[in-house]
Amino acid sequence: MKSSWNESEAKKLKNDPLKLRVYTSRLLGKEEDLVLHGGGNTSVKTRERNIFGEEEDIIYVKGSGWDLATIEEAGFAPVKLKTLLQMAELDELNDSEMVKYQRMAMTDPTAPTPSVEAILHAIIPFAFVDHTHADAVVTISNSKEGERRLKELYGDRIMVVPYVMPGFILAKQIHELTKDIDWSNVDGIILQHHGVFTFHDDPKVSYERMISMVSKAEEYLKKNATLRKADAPALAPDTLQIARLRKQLANVWRKAVLVHLDNTEISTSFSNHPELERIANQGPLTPDHIIRTKRTPLVLSDDHEGSLNTFVQAYEKYFIDFNTGNLISLDKAPRWAVWPGHGTLSFDTNFKAVQIIRDISQHTMKAILQAEMLDEWTALSRKDLFEMEYWVLEQEKLKKGGSARPMQGRIALVTGAASGIGKACAERLLGEGAVVAALDINPSITTVFKKSEILAIECDVTDERQLLAAIQKTVSHFGGLDMIVANAGIFPKSMNIADMDQATWHKTLDVNVTSHQRLLTLAAPYLALGINPSVVIIGSKNVGAPGPGAAAYSVSKAALTQLARVAAMELGEKGIRVNVLHPNAVFDTGIWSEQVLETRARHYGITVDEYKRNNILKVEVTSQDVADLAVMVLGPVFAKTTGAQIPIDGGNDRII
Ligand code: ZN
Repeated sequence: MKSSWNESEAKKLKNDPLKLRVYTSRLLGKEEDLVLHGGGNTSVKTRERNIFGEEEDIIYVKGSGWDLATIEEAGFAPVKLKTLLQMAELDELNDSEMVKYQRMAMTDPTAPTPSVEAILHAIIPFAFVDHTHADAVVTISNSKEGERRLKELYGDRIMVVPYVMPGFILAKQIHELTKDIDWSNVDGIILQHHGVFTFHDDPKVSYERMISMVSKAEEYLKKNATLRKADAPALAPDTLQIARLRKQLANVWRKAVLVHLDNTEISTSFSNHPELERIANQGPLTPDHIIRTKRTPLVLSDDHEGSLNTFVQAYEKYFIDFNTGNLISLDKAPRWAVWPGHGTLSFDTNFKAVQIIRDISQHTMKAILQAEMLDEWTALSRKDLFEMEYWVLEQEKLKKGGSARPMQGRIALVTGAASGIGKACAERLLGEGAVVAALDINPSITTVFKKSEILAIECDVTDERQLLAAIQKTVSHFGGLDMIVANAGIFPKSMNIADMDQATWHKTLDVNVTSHQRLLTLAAPYLALGINPSVVIIGSKNVGAPGPGAAAYSVSKAALTQLARVAAMELGEKGIRVNVLHPNAVFDTGIWSEQVLETRARHYGITVDEYKRNNILKVEVTSQDVADLAVMVLGPVFAKTTGAQIPIDGGNDRII
């Protein structure tokens, strides 16, 4: 690991300790091998004058819930140093009281709650204190001979401290150990199974000591535990197995969940390890990961459901073994699985959390494989990990995620999603908390959406192989398929039957009817394993009220509607609902340019605005309106409706 210190950047911040603190915190935060998703914390001590004109020692400590990679000044909580030092003198203090008194000692009540490690930061008598959960150091610590190795590697100027629970107990331990020491003889502290502290009055020295300590551990691992390349590529997954496992997980969790396949090299190598059961079942890289990943992953056998049941039973036993009597069990579902030969699967109810779990598991697997090469991976005891998992202050962190949205954990697929109704549906589904596979033949689909919750796939829906590949990619990426908005369609140019060319006729039927049949055929087995599965098919007013010159379009939409009606009967037996929307005159789509609108309006002798509102209610129907209705029909309000046809056309006397 290299220092990223930039002297000219730092010079600009020279007279502002908090700005410098933000600067070096971000330097630490950008290294995933130092801190991952909210891990680690930093602080700076300053002197400030309060409103009474008195000088006070203040420590700015990273606020809980902030990430070092993106932290700002507002992410640090200013706390009176004196109070924290007094707290360190107490014999006992429970965690809730600790948090309460820390908050009471803040000089800004709107600041975030200070890190649970605030007292420890206060004890260390230097202006800048840096704390990370550096992979390389913790990997060595989590080997059987970890303590000996660390002491040999770092010598006398680094304190190596046995593991205790973070929070007050840890602060107290360090307070006792350092009461009578000369701090000028200590360059850093390693907390076994946990992480590293460095400190100095100069932020550069503190930061670079961290980098140099970590580099030392990295070099040690490079010399003694270089990972080999994977022997074999990952096996191609049976995506129906993934969808089935997701359904079983949702039953255990009692929530819709997402499942993400990771078959990168590290995951594949790990999944092929001959002693997988032993190395996977010990514990996480650092104890704070447990709230994200649970203590161990699910190790899948050929019988996925049986493996899941075994995991749940083991979790029940673990809870009974360590519950002191007044705790309520968390859900018993695993957060990730190792799938021998295939890689790993990450699970959670929202995709951000799934990605966090995937990242954490990748770092964990690397550490396990390296520690195994040193001697033997040795995580913390079940009891220590249980205490961490059920620690109130850790559980509080998860609650900060906010309340779940209505479609959280559910997976949708939208065709024709690059523009118009399809794009509006994808965005609306995302807004409801669903993840979306957005398909379109237009290559622009890959740049339309910026969120990781939308998987953009360039796909010609008339090509069966492309369509199947898109469905399988969706299931590998998100875990299954619950909802479909079958929207892809074309509107050929006006042509009387007498002048019909066969190519136009066939193409229209192929895109507007046959592609939807293929989609339903290929998706049916996945929908059958979906959570409240539901399909919306975008029809057209032309089905009920055809017009001259649009034979191919009207016929194709009528056939599509008939397909939907039969699908409602057949798929309904498996609980899958199929409903049709019949929009009319939706002009904010790709096919309607201003010029075309003007030509049409002139043809009828009315203005463009009158043309757009040419219906009983005199309202304009937009893509957004159709998307709002589509999402409503997919959702619980329509849970008991299937085979319905709903107009969204502002009222049309020929339909009514
Ligand atoms: Zn820590």
